[in-house]
Amino acid sequence: MERTELLIVGAGAAGISAACAAWDAGCRDVLLADRLPYAGGILPQCIHEGFGLSAFGSELTGPAYVERLAEGLAQRGVRFLPGKEVLAVTKEKTAVLSGKGGVEEIRFERLILATGSRERTVGSLSIAGTRPAGIFTAGQAQEMINLHHWRLGSQVVILGSGDMGMILARRFTLEGKQVLAVLEQDAHYGGLARNFHRCIEAYQIPIRYRCTVREIHGMPRITGVTVEALDNGKSEFLPCDTLVTAIGLVPERELIRGFEKEPWLSLAGNCSRVYELADSAAAEGAKVGRYVGKQLVK
Ligand SMILES: Cc1cc2nc3c(=O)[nH]c(=O)nc-3n(C[C@H](O)[C@H](O)[C@H](O)COP(=O)(O)OP(=O)(O)OC[C@H]3O[C@@H](n4cnc5c(N)ncnc54)[C@H](O)[C@@H]3O)c2cc1C
Repeated sequence: MERTELLIVGAGAAGISAACAAWDAGCRDVLLADRLPYAGGILPQCIHEGFGLSAFGSELTGPAYVERLAEGLAQRGVRFLPGKEVLAVTKEKTAVLSGKGGVEEIRFERLILATGSRERTVGSLSIAGTRPAGIFTAGQAQEMINLHHWRLGSQVVILGSGDMGMILARRFTLEGKQVLAVLEQDAHYGGLARNFHRCIEAYQIPIRYRCTVREIHGMPRITGVTVEALDNGKSEFLPCDTLVTAIGLVPERELIRGFEKEPWLSLAGNCSRVYELADSAAAEGAKVGRYVGKQLVK
């Protein structure tokens, strides 16, 4: 069975930064695995600018940010295993990996989990009606449009005005689609002010506060949603062929369920807590990597 001193699961901003920092702290046996065939995690699909202001002093796109991180990785002797999904981790410090070569086990001394976060789906809300085609999470829609060039629909409603909702609203508009409304349950948009100005105001996309989707209509494709005003309970049918949910992220920790407190385990990036900025996820990754790397060379 293969062995490594440090196994890092997830090669997003946090995982790459952790790997580089552990190497710089003196650890010379670092293995970084990701189920995707490339490094960068969520970043390659984030083709907008807004990354790297504090880490690199300039505003980069997600892919350009990954390039900078990947340069750091290439300068060190970290072994990167793309296309390897970690299926399980045991208390005996063994990870089960699956990829093109089949299933293999790797023994490790320390593990850094940098598996990012997953999106809340429409199923996590109490919305009545059907579950037809044409409903996407923001991350799904972003990946399909930016990486695979799919055309998802033409009349779009977006639920949630956090950064992902606002960035997706602009993306659909740039694709020539009509964003009928961004719906927000609070009295204020949820994301960063810069994203509100650049994505919503600049493209005059309608945003409605204090409202939510109460019912989904249509089958097999969505034909509209019932929007309810939360202050007076009034509802209205809004026809659309696409609903995008941008209703939050949940740290992805399935692999370590039941043994979160093991001394050989550390968490970094969005699986530790959800970060708005890649720089913050990367900074935490570097901090954790440095700490673990130092412990391993003692
Ligand atoms: C739509 C959107 C817009 C954003 N806009 C900005 C912005 O403008 N500016 C900014 O600074 N930040 C932005 N962010 C935030 C930033 O992208 C994230 O905070 C940061 O990239 C998270 O990094 P991470 O490494 O923690 O997670 P991720 O990038 O999600 O990486 C996790 C990695 O773990 C891998 N993984 C998960 N489970 C397994 C497993 N079992 N086996 C193997 N691999 C696994 C995944 O494949 C993934 O590659 C945005 C995020 C999103 C989603």
